[in-house]
Amino acid sequence: MTIITTKKPFEEVLGAIKNAKRLTIVSCGSCAAMCQTGGTEGAKEMADKLEKEGFQITTVIVPEEVCDNRVMKQDFRKIEEDLENTDAILTLSCGLGVASITEVLSKKFPNIPVFIGTNTEFMGMTERIGRFFMRCRGCGDCLLNETGGICPITTCAKSLMNGPCGGMVDGKCEVGKYEKDCGWILIYNRLKELGRLDFFEKLRDPVDWSESGHQREVVWR
Ligand code: SF4
Ligand code: SF4
Repeated sequence: MTIITTKKPFEEVLGAIKNAKRLTIVSCGSCAAMCQTGGTEGAKEMADKLEKEGFQITTVIVPEEVCDNRVMKQDFRKIEEDLENTDAILTLSCGLGVASITEVLSKKFPNIPVFIGTNTEFMGMTERIGRFFMRCRGCGDCLLNETGGICPITTCAKSLMNGPCGGMVDGKCEVGKYEKDCGWILIYNRLKELGRLDFFEKLRDPVDWSESGHQREVVWR
């Protein structure tokens, strides 16, 4: 699994960091490296571009996982002196990376703002580098046991719970001009293959997004 990120337009990044002169770049060595938005190469590309714009790059680090507070605590300990001379941090990671850095830095360096150079798209299934697909949205109430392993939340454009809508034509979805398969037809075909069309006939309540949308935590110790 990879958290899929894409690069923000460079002009947008410049706009965000315009009040900083000295920057530390924190570039994720895992998911963002896989997406070619971060990692060593992404960091170098960004550092070169920023230097051409007159920014001073104080330091660049490529932590294994920017979203892991424990990793960030260790890595920031090693560059504390550099952080004394940094106006801002530019993060090349998903949004979790910014949250992690902000949390880890907030006690010792509360005045250093943390900016992001990417857009976080979704958690993705990887077919190969450059081909990532949204197949789960982490709804917190997984239905895959009843849908033949195909997620209705992500494969149906409207996240419907009870079979195809009137916008399905020849197995294709009206959303996106009939270019993509209707998720519910995929589910139907898979359940038929498995001999479990009884699941297709089951009536389900609409998803209660108020339960699964916000401020979720899993804390088990
Ligand atoms: S139903 Fe879909 S979005 Fe929800 S947990 Fe299962 S795969 Fe993920
Ligand atoms: S056509 Fe199929 S995938 Fe598209 S919105 Fe309707 S049920 Fe969902």
